[in-house]
Amino acid sequence: MSEKSSEEQLLEFLYACPVGLLECDLAGEIAMMNPHAMQHLLPLAGPRDASNLFAAFEQHAPELRSLVAAYKPALGKICDGHRIFVDLGSGRRKQAPQVLACTMVKLGIDRLMVTLSDISQQVVQEERLRQADTWFATLLDGVNEYAALSITPDGHIASANPCFTRQTGHDYVAVIGHKLSDVLHSDTSGGDLRLEEQVEIAQRDGWHLQEGWQQRRDGERYWCQRLVVARADSASASPSGYSVVLRDVPRREAAAEDMRRLLTCDHLTGASNRRHFSEAMEREQAHWRELRHSLALVVLDLDHFKAVNDTYGHPIGDMLLCHVAQACAALLPPRGIFARLGGEEFGALLPRFDLDQALNLAEEMRAAVAELSIDTTMGKLSATASLGCATLGEADGSIDALIALADRRLYAAKRSGRNQVHQPQACAA
Ligand code: GH3
Ligand code: MG
Ligand code: MG
Repeated sequence: MSEKSSEEQLLEFLYACPVGLLECDLAGEIAMMNPHAMQHLLPLAGPRDASNLFAAFEQHAPELRSLVAAYKPALGKICDGHRIFVDLGSGRRKQAPQVLACTMVKLGIDRLMVTLSDISQQVVQEERLRQADTWFATLLDGVNEYAALSITPDGHIASANPCFTRQTGHDYVAVIGHKLSDVLHSDTSGGDLRLEEQVEIAQRDGWHLQEGWQQRRDGERYWCQRLVVARADSASASPSGYSVVLRDVPRREAAAEDMRRLLTCDHLTGASNRRHFSEAMEREQAHWRELRHSLALVVLDLDHFKAVNDTYGHPIGDMLLCHVAQACAALLPPRGIFARLGGEEFGALLPRFDLDQALNLAEEMRAAVAELSIDTTMGKLSATASLGCATLGEADGSIDALIALADRRLYAAKRSGRNQVHQPQACAA
């Protein structure tokens, strides 16, 4: 028993409707549009007239005008889901382009109904599917053989092909019923995802591909491309299982480990270099975005190091830097990365560490540095360091903000007297 007029009901519908809806005449003059349509049109129109459909789309979809002009019937669909690629300027170039789908229906002699919806996500998914197709094609044409397995949603092996034995050394029949993550030994110290994490992403996105070190049964390492695909079950929303494909491929990066070390390590201390550290941060940031696992950064700066150089000489200063790097790197968890970020400043990147865990490790590092004692001709040399910790979550996912926050905390530790880890909570309280 509604008391609302049909016009009011229509208006309510238009406001609540999750797609952009607008009505205009054949010249594009807009008579009515809902908030969603306005949201799409206004940024595109820029200085042009936003009250005219064709004027608003002049830059991004000038073809709309001719589509309408060329449509002769008195009524009917002029276009259906016509794609309009929108680039809102150079600042957004790194993001996926925004794509609108536009449907225009001629409702009368001089009346058009137009819908606009944002299909950017769908286009990204299509792109991923195209990539997957390409990958499957090379897989099937490829000269390399591939190990194929199917696993249950909780990760147990349901079937495997004979190539699994040739590639990994594990009997492909005997492994049935075992957890695949127990059978495969992946090296995740470089930040690669664990199998369970790949499955988690495949469940959400349909598939996930990564390359990394894998171990055969006899312990030999090989470079492995690992694809996990969710098997859709039309009856239920969650996958009925996963297909896992493993390929033994030549490593595309510089083959020799020596070369890797040369490129990724600091020449003096052997810690990771700044460039390698930045790359690891970007990789971990991507994982953080995908899986929301916490990620922490500890920065460490030696106290009064200039005085060490001045008193003991530069070579002894160098030696101290090496000892500090060694003592701190020895405390790292398996997935952690310790790097020399500059002169006497170091950083530890700690995947899956929350702030408390990072603060604890930083305290261990502080103590380890304070315990160092180096014999010199001028007597024993000791050192202290100041440290700051922060997490990517606190920095809203921005690496620059993460570094800046950890640095600010490091300098707060310096100001409070050095030889300490800044405690952010204590400061906020
Ligand atoms: P603070 O406690 O405020 O950090 O004081 P600091 O003396 O440690 O800091 P400052 O930035 O004033 O000095 C850092 C010094 O580190 C200056 C520079 O000569 C020295 N240094 C930078 N790189 C190296 C290196 O590779 N070897 C040696 N031995 N010294 C270095
Ligand atoms: Mg210093
Ligand atoms: Mg410094």
